[in-house]
Amino acid sequence: MSPVTDSRPRIGVSTCLLGEPVRWDAGHKRDPYLVDVFGPQVEWVPFCPEVEAGFGTPRETMHLVRAAGGPITLMTTKTQRDVTRQLRTAVQRRMDAIAEADLSGYVLKKDSPSCGMARVKVYSDRGGPAERTGRGLFADALMTRLPNLPVEEEGRLSDPRLRENFVERVFAFQRVRRLFSSRWTQGDLVAFHTAHKLTLMAHSPSAYRALGRLVAEGASLDRRALALRYEAEFMQALAVVATPKRHANVDPHPRELSLRNHV
Ligand code: SF4
Repeated sequence: MSPVTDSRPRIGVSTCLLGEPVRWDAGHKRDPYLVDVFGPQVEWVPFCPEVEAGFGTPRETMHLVRAAGGPITLMTTKTQRDVTRQLRTAVQRRMDAIAEADLSGYVLKKDSPSCGMARVKVYSDRGGPAERTGRGLFADALMTRLPNLPVEEEGRLSDPRLRENFVERVFAFQRVRRLFSSRWTQGDLVAFHTAHKLTLMAHSPSAYRALGRLVAEGASLDRRALALRYEAEFMQALAVVATPKRHANVDPHPRELSLRNHV
């Protein structure tokens, strides 16, 4: 695991959401909440996969296309060029750096064939209406490489419950990674789990109990395997949106509290 610093959480972000003119039309999609409210509490790590791939700005628009029985490809819309390999090569070139960037979360641009997290339009090479079943090629590579990383789209962050859940997961991920990047002991893990009891219970009581059993068995398990499993199951539990009835606001970090007050 890469070392975790004690600074503001580092958050990956689709560059256009910060107001940078990197879109196909040389425009941007500046998101006021991200820039003005979330931004001062975090350190952004922007990345535009289409610029990285050398497509240029401005550039021809692209979309996802599924060939009959074949894989999904990234095609330019007018000239019908398959630019999948170019995009994937650029993403692979940067993925190690992204994985080592000590990120605590990622905000992706919705609907993009490169950055969209879900429900991205996929066209058929035989024509007909598009289906909203796709995921951007970069988003897919990111979420495969870093499955525990909290990831959201800026569109979903306009929903107060999803926004609060994302903020909570970002700071929780920073805490759990800080724990496991230290010289942690079994006692440290017990203390961490105990400190997050109410948080976990608000999301998933069954997950809290399962993690408790894992911690209890911890001394007999391989340390690295235990850390990987605890981190994965901890983050999966927090991804379950807490119900208002069960939610408990337990001693949040001041920055987390500040952000929660904006939801
Ligand atoms: S959505 Fe992604 S690929 Fe498109 S301009 Fe924004 S950062 Fe670049």
